[in-house]
Amino acid sequence: MIIRCYPNGKSKAFNITYDDGILQDVRFVALLNRYGIKGTFNLNSQLMEQEFEWVHETGMVVKRLSIEAVRHLYDGHEIASHTLTHPYLSTKTREEILWEMGEDKRRLEELFGREVAGFGVPFHFYDETVYQCVKECGFEYGRNSELTHNYFPWQDPYFWSCGIFHLEPELDSFVDGFFATDEELALCQIVGHSYDLDAAQLWEKMEQICRRVAEDEDVLPMTHLQIVRYLRAMKQAQITDSGIYNPSVTPLWFRVDGEVVRLLPGERYERSKQ
Ligand SMILES: [Zn+2]
Repeated sequence: MIIRCYPNGKSKAFNITYDDGILQDVRFVALLNRYGIKGTFNLNSQLMEQEFEWVHETGMVVKRLSIEAVRHLYDGHEIASHTLTHPYLSTKTREEILWEMGEDKRRLEELFGREVAGFGVPFHFYDETVYQCVKECGFEYGRNSELTHNYFPWQDPYFWSCGIFHLEPELDSFVDGFFATDEELALCQIVGHSYDLDAAQLWEKMEQICRRVAEDEDVLPMTHLQIVRYLRAMKQAQITDSGIYNPSVTPLWFRVDGEVVRLLPGERYERSKQ
């Protein structure tokens, strides 16, 4: 039997995607780092410049991190665009949407000195225009605000939905189901904002989830971009009864009759005749 795997022969991948670049990210990134989890952080570069803040329904003041505060905070994690100013994209023209996305990408790349190739939409509006603008701005994926509630990772990268929002009551059963599933290339992807961890007292629960991921040898923490790139390459794999060919530019991993097999770009694996 040939089973497709994530890098290092892992069966499952895990990602946490948090938005807005807020004060609680400092504690949250420290938590992820303690357990070797790779996060994806969607930032609004212009709101960081303004040290924007707003009042949550619980009365808590939600503060954006300043540019100085974030410069090294997200080292080892993915930084993705969330537009310049977090607008409702339904109120914007096509040109304004392109500016909100493209200029945010450019500023984040300049600020952090690295590539920004992911986009997460602010609020809930994601129509055909937004879809095309994400592509036009050179992003490799665009995340909408819908949720799949499953572990199935094959999606249109430009109309990508995460598995679950961290405040949903089903979070525990969703995570339990992920550790129990034997679905091929299963993915657990949780979306949220770190201020909710204070507002809903979720810190302990998130730490438990991170600990479970770290302790499970079959789960690989990845950034959203790493997942999209790996699956894009895996889609090209040519699998037959007699073997596998990897025409992509990325090393791909499989389990063949229980053995872990890594195929380098251009490499072919012939299954031994029994
Ligand atoms: Zn947001």
